[in-house]
Amino acid sequence: MSIFGRVSDSAERQAPSVDAVVVGAGFAGLYALHELRTRGLSTRVFEAAPEVGGTWYFNRYPGARCDVESVDYCFSFSDELQQQWTWSEKYATQAEILRYINWVADKLDLRSGIDFNARVVSATLDEDDSTWTVRVDTGQVVRARFVIMATGPLSAALTPNFPGLDTFEGQIHHTAHWPHEGVDFTGKRVAVIGTGSSGIQSIPVIADQADELVVFQRTPNFSVPAGNRELSSEDVAAVKANYAERRRLSWRSGGGSPHVAHPKLTMQASPEERREAFETRWQLGGVLFSKTFADQMTDRTANEEARKFYEEKIRGVVDDPDVADLLIPTDHPIGTKRICTDTNYFQTFNRPHVKLVSVRKTPIVAVDATGITTTERHYDLDAIVLATGFDAMTGTLAKIDIVGRGGQRLRDDWADGPRTYLGLGVDGFPNMFLVSGPGAPAVLANMVLHAEAHVNWIADAIGYLDEHGYVGIEAEPDAVDEWIVECNRRANATLFPQANSWYMGANVPGKPRVFMLFIGGFAVYLDICREVAAAGYKGFRLLKDS
Ligand code: FAD
Ligand code: NAP
Repeated sequence: MSIFGRVSDSAERQAPSVDAVVVGAGFAGLYALHELRTRGLSTRVFEAAPEVGGTWYFNRYPGARCDVESVDYCFSFSDELQQQWTWSEKYATQAEILRYINWVADKLDLRSGIDFNARVVSATLDEDDSTWTVRVDTGQVVRARFVIMATGPLSAALTPNFPGLDTFEGQIHHTAHWPHEGVDFTGKRVAVIGTGSSGIQSIPVIADQADELVVFQRTPNFSVPAGNRELSSEDVAAVKANYAERRRLSWRSGGGSPHVAHPKLTMQASPEERREAFETRWQLGGVLFSKTFADQMTDRTANEEARKFYEEKIRGVVDDPDVADLLIPTDHPIGTKRICTDTNYFQTFNRPHVKLVSVRKTPIVAVDATGITTTERHYDLDAIVLATGFDAMTGTLAKIDIVGRGGQRLRDDWADGPRTYLGLGVDGFPNMFLVSGPGAPAVLANMVLHAEAHVNWIADAIGYLDEHGYVGIEAEPDAVDEWIVECNRRANATLFPQANSWYMGANVPGKPRVFMLFIGGFAVYLDICREVAAAGYKGFRLLKDS
């Protein structure tokens, strides 16, 4: 019997019903809408922003680009899409990625399924029939059999509580909320606070415009030149001719792109082989430097070889050895925070109008109307750029009042760290699915393929329930506990927990310190998800209509 046959006469139960509500219209939410619709499920998407794009709608700071190659960082589910779209650069700009997402939304007629400017404020379980009542800040109320949180792991921007920040009379811009009309820094004295991927991408571009640029760095980051370049028509043709194989390798890879590590382990290679392998990977550019050898992220000696090579490269381009000392990380193994991908980042500090300030040595004390004061001095400024990152993985979900069994709130349930099974389900929250949430590889993988994998798994699960007469699916508490142990076991076998990274929640004061991701590799994770499904959704309780 359809659960919608049992709607009571209360106002909420008369709210419109759909099979699925999807929260978010980034890569994940868009694909969820397309796939669920294709499978005949009525689906409504709510998106807080006025447009599609998610990450790529909001992060419009100068220099913003992907750090997974464009030809891999795009939908794979339709050969027609990947054959028709042509990327212009190895690492596409934010603007080009947003154009692509809009093009897909138009081609697949996705906008008609989305309510924009519609922020979901709560989702409440009705335990009687495992349905959800979803409330939106527009006043809309919708009931749904399934809720799919495609809210993004990096979509809650973080603004540190610098005393006096609100008194600054110049411009303040967070990289994740960049004005759509752009910002002209010509003739201005600008500060950038933060040297993660967003800071490192934007600093060289801002330096090209600004009269003076002061970079406030807390922790130096490892960053590898992107080696970005235009894609020639031959490059594009070669990729398109070989897409099926490229994607096959990506689906079977550790990170969702067709990278293959050196056949030897680091210390098995001779010094010459090692150097050549690092050099080759360095010339290719980007984040995959941390995967040159397969053991780089698990063996401290191997990691140290990569770090030494890296240090030599950076010292080779920074003129002032004291500035180089400040820029080279010493507090975490290379790769244990996401390696940044840059274009002329380190060279920027050779420019006379660019100054690097270590806020570890001279902390920011306050911001006032005219600028920033550190323990050492005051900096007069016209603009402050906050490249201070995100409350990652859990921050966006915590903003939604998600109420499950027995009135349990997700944010309370996760007070000591997120609890999921496979990163897809949570005990006590039946029929709620997470896309690219904690407990999955998520940000450790190419996130477009990751979103496709999650959505496919979720759509298959819903199909299974419908075919077998179930109304709900809920992670078993034991399966959640065991998955957390498994994620920790795998993380602890690597060097990752040694860094104060956002993967560990370390960037948010008071956030529990747990490694929030599955680090066993993309393909391994997908195999586990497949096995769980093939075994009749092992670890999940399947619920019958009562
Ligand atoms: P998002 O794109 O974050 O979309 C989530 C959407 O949900 C947003 O539009 C948000 O407004 C909406 N939303 C959230 N809460 C609510 C609510 N309560 N109600 C309604 N709507 C809501 N990953 C890579 O793999 N490769 C890269 O090169 C890469 N580059 C990146 C560069 C930047 C600057 C950043 C910040 C991240 C990058 N990432 C990259 C990670 C990136 O977040 C993912 O690749 C991907 O775009 C995430 O897609 P998504 O749909 O899961 O989430
Ligand atoms: P981030 O990596 O968390 O970097 C934030 C920066 O702000 C860090 O340098 C941090 O220092 C600093 N910071 C935070 N609070 C501070 C404070 N109170 N005082 C001084 N400094 C402070 O954030 P992000 O750069 O936005 O990147 C987040 C993730 O998004 C990336 O890791 C990546 O996954 C993705 N991303 C990708 C790209 C790309 O290249 N495609 C670009 C941007 C973002 P600490 O390190 O000391 O905390």
